Amino acid sequence: MTDRHGELVESARELHSGKRHWNDRWLLVAGGAALALGLVAIVLGWYGAAQSTLDFEQTPYVISGGLLGVGLIVLGSFLYFSFWLTCLVRENRQTATRTAAHQDRLEHLVAQLLVDRPEQLVVTEHGTVVHRVGCPATLGQPVEATTASSATCELCR
Ligand SMILES: [Zn+2]
Repeated sequence: MTDRHGELVESARELHSGKRHWNDRWLLVAGGAALALGLVAIVLGWYGAAQSTLDFEQTPYVISGGLLGVGLIVLGSFLYFSFWLTCLVRENRQTATRTAAHQDRLEHLVAQLLVDRPEQLVVTEHGTVVHRVGCPATLGQPVEATTASSATCELCR
């Protein structure tokens, strides 16, 4: 509970400060602007070239409109791709942090369970050996309390 509360407080602070994700948000803004400018440059170059039938008059429009437009579109695409990769990396890190926190919590709960009832003996549904509560061999299986101590488990005896 305190871990989740601390996570909530930290996230609220980041939201309040407004600094969250702005360091990579510029990639999205610049990529979108470069894509839009590239499309505009291509349309303007096409419009300028369409006004004349002479090659020497069309060439400057093709160079300044078409090539600049394609360059801006490629640049914008790379910037947007970088933003997308940054989002993936951030999500991966957050997921890894949460998974590690949950794993620590589960280990703590299992350890607490072993401390609370160290002498309790259990047997699995089809098992023939007796285990202590929390034995790794019984994880994920239904167990019943027992008092018989015929054969004990090698892992938890
Ligand atoms: Zn065992």
